[in-house]
Amino acid sequence: MTARIIDGKALAQQVRERIAGEVAQLRDERGVTPGLAAVLVGEDPASQVYVGMKHRASEAAGLRSQQRVLAADTGQSELEELVAQLNEDDEVDGILVQLPLPDHLDPGPVQELIAPAKDVDALNPYTAGRLAVGDPTFLSCTPYGVLEILAHAGVELAGSHVVIVGRSNLVGRPLSVMMTLKGRDATVTVAHSRTRDLAGVCRTADVVVAAAGRIGLITADMVRPGATVIDVGTNRDDDGKLVGDVDFAGVVEVAGAITPVPGGVGPMTVAMLLQNTLEAARARRGLPRR
Ligand code: NAD
Repeated sequence: MTARIIDGKALAQQVRERIAGEVAQLRDERGVTPGLAAVLVGEDPASQVYVGMKHRASEAAGLRSQQRVLAADTGQSELEELVAQLNEDDEVDGILVQLPLPDHLDPGPVQELIAPAKDVDALNPYTAGRLAVGDPTFLSCTPYGVLEILAHAGVELAGSHVVIVGRSNLVGRPLSVMMTLKGRDATVTVAHSRTRDLAGVCRTADVVVAAAGRIGLITADMVRPGATVIDVGTNRDDDGKLVGDVDFAGVVEVAGAITPVPGGVGPMTVAMLLQNTLEAARARRGLPRR
């Protein structure tokens, strides 16, 4: 059996077009243009690429997008002052501070400072806490994208066993919370670097989500025939090629459905950032969520 390949790029394009329509409607009917501010500290090439992608996608969807680039030697208080200023800026609906920050800066206090109403990257612990207790809040963009991919692919989560490989605050942990909430109702196992018999654990899954940042970690023998495999991993191989955590060539022969890298979760992450910014703009003006 060969797996169905889930086209995250095409899905992201659909989502972005829908968002562009809603942004235009908000502008025409209410005179509101949602605004996103991205803060980049230093010159990390990958971060520059990510912030550039988010900026272009925002503009293409009709959002107001600003990039605030600070020198690599910016101090903690200077960065925090900028975030405080963006919190007060009425034209800014969403704030994102691109990670990783240079080593001398502590991301924790910066994330805690982002106004919850503007926390479109959902990394403020307050936002994570609301998610944990099941209160409405922003969903962090990559896990949100994974949920949208699964819904679009018609993968039933309720009652399914999902194994998430990786427990980071960015991907694995929030995704595990989202999937166990009432309404999604999955049974979730979070595997990590100390998990015993990872292969055996993965073989029990209806859905495997790989988010470990390890090339080739998930191989065909770890996947139950017909299972869905979502590859969040974004790694560079020795040739500089973008690859995931899943041995795609092998797993595609066993799985029922699979996301590729590139063209799977990555494009959806950007689309969900736009979605969150649109939702922030609506919520800040007391408009109902769509
Ligand atoms: P992280 O390094 O913070 O966390 C990795 C997690 O994987 C840890 O919890 C660790 O315990 C686990 N892990 C590592 N090696 C393991 C192993 N051998 N077996 C089992 N578990 C193992 O990484 P992160 O920020 O969560 O990112 C994970 C991957 O997802 C990276 O490749 C990253 O680039 C990618 N990513 C992609 C997107 C996207 O938009 N596509 C967004 C965020 C992260």
